Amino acid sequence: MADLKGTSVTWLGHATVLIATAKGTQILIDPFIEQNPKFPKGYQLPEKIDLLLLTHGHFDHVADAATVARKHNATVVAIYELVAWLQSKGVKDGVGMNIGGSYRQGDVTITLTEARHSSGIQDGDKVIYGGEPAGFVIAVDNGPVLYHSGDTSLFSDMQLIRELHHPDVAMLPIGDHFTMGPKAAAVATRYLGAKTVLPIHFGTFPPLTGTPETLEKELSGAGVEVLHTSPGKAIS
Ligand SMILES: [Zn+2]
Repeated sequence: MADLKGTSVTWLGHATVLIATAKGTQILIDPFIEQNPKFPKGYQLPEKIDLLLLTHGHFDHVADAATVARKHNATVVAIYELVAWLQSKGVKDGVGMNIGGSYRQGDVTITLTEARHSSGIQDGDKVIYGGEPAGFVIAVDNGPVLYHSGDTSLFSDMQLIRELHHPDVAMLPIGDHFTMGPKAAAVATRYLGAKTVLPIHFGTFPPLTGTPETLEKELSGAGVEVLHTSPGKAIS
C-alpha cells in the first residue's frame, strides 16, 4: 500500500470517491448518490466540500453534481463546457479548465488529463455537448499523488501521466462495456507506474462485469496492490 501521508481515500461506489487531505481539504469526485445502487446507505458527506471534480457529463457522474455543489458550498472543477452547463443549473463557484492544465487550491494541485470516452449531457430530452471527457491528477502538498482516470479505455499516453506526475495510487474503471476492463486496466497500471490500484466503475449495473479479482490475476507478479474495499470504508 502506498504511503498516503495522512490523506484518506473513500470509494463510495461506482466512480464516486471522497478524498480528505491531512490538512482537511475535502475533495469529491463524480458524485453519484441518489440512483447509485452501491452508494453506502446512510453515508453522510462532510458538511463542507472544498472541491467537486467532474470527469465528464454522463448521468452516473453528474446526476447529483449541482445539488451537492450547492448544498456543500463546493468549487466545481471540470472541463470548460461542463462547468458552463452546471452554472446554467445554478452552480455559482466553478473553475472551467481544459486538458493538460492545472489548478491550485489550498494544499492541492489538480491537473486535467486526457480520457478516451464521450461526454454528452442528457438534459431533459436533449443531449448537450459536454466538452471532452477527462481524468484528474490530484497532487497533495507533502502527500500522495492520486490519479482518477474517469471513464476511459486504455491509451498509451498514460505513460506521459507517469512521466509528468508519478501517481502513487490509480483509480481505474474495470467494469468493461462502457470503459476498459481488467485486462486493459492491468496495462494501464503498468503504464502509470502506480503501485496501488483502486478499482472503480464495476458491478454497479449488470453490464459492468469486470472484477478486482480478475484485475489482480492480470497483475500477478507485478508488485502492485489491488485494493478490495467496500463502498464507504476509508483507506488511509
Ligand atoms: Zn461515462
